[in-house]
Amino acid sequence: MKKLLTLCLVLACCLLGSYYIAEAAPPAADVHWGYSGEAGPAHWGELDPSFVACAEGQEQSPVDIPASAPVNTTGLAFHYQPSGLTILNNGHTIQVNYDKGSAITLEGTTYDLVQFHFHAPSEHTLAGQSAPMELHLVHRSTNQTLAVVGVLIQRGGANPAYDAVLNHLPAQEQAAMPVAGVTVDAASLLPADRSYYRYNGSLTTPPCSEGVKWQVLRTPVTLSDAQIAAFTKLYPNDARPVQPLNARTFLTVGSAPVGMPTTGHGEHALLLVLLSYAALGLIVAGGVLLQRKKA
Ligand SMILES: [Zn+2]
Repeated sequence: MKKLLTLCLVLACCLLGSYYIAEAAPPAADVHWGYSGEAGPAHWGELDPSFVACAEGQEQSPVDIPASAPVNTTGLAFHYQPSGLTILNNGHTIQVNYDKGSAITLEGTTYDLVQFHFHAPSEHTLAGQSAPMELHLVHRSTNQTLAVVGVLIQRGGANPAYDAVLNHLPAQEQAAMPVAGVTVDAASLLPADRSYYRYNGSLTTPPCSEGVKWQVLRTPVTLSDAQIAAFTKLYPNDARPVQPLNARTFLTVGSAPVGMPTTGHGEHALLLVLLSYAALGLIVAGGVLLQRKKA
């Protein structure tokens, strides 16, 4: 009996140990992945054990945003300052590393702007329609939660706010390099209307980690043909296809106090309040009637 107990204990320790080792496995930084063929999005999950979420995750990004998705106008605020231009070509996209001091607040939590980068065509689609490009502004909170703001980029008038970046795209893969004397202002990259769609998703590149808060702005910005071409001649296709929504819904960001459920249950909360008022009214009316009877 004692032997059996010892054996069980040893087995449990082994299982627990291997679990922790698997969890602690370093990310596969040097695994080759891309956007077509054997290394393309359909195979990301097979390329490395750490990419398993790409194949098996149930809350993956990007997604199609249906016309019926609720549009939020509150709960997201931008606190962006201009930054020096530090730009890199990582072999998957062009990325700008942003100076400290810029952030968004999302439902009361601050997320620092870390970097922004581009995809072509857009990764998110609106009612099945893609745009020529998409800008992703990546933010991180002090507890390491990621919040990404997506901006769809349509073909149209030139947008000079993007020139600081588009005029300095490194043609070859290269590490982050500061561009002397050039600044970029993330606020000017956004449309004037910052209403947004909100859902929970993932990184759109391996390892496809979930737990990412997504805000996709409803209003696109425009770039000229030449501005779009400046990026697409380097990266004509660096977009992951849309992923199934599964059990997820697009969220309504309420203005309820912190700790209250603010997402998806707005109608229920309103009904509860109305019912409470109705019940209160009945009690008061009953009390008044009782008083009158007594009198
Ligand atoms: Zn992205």
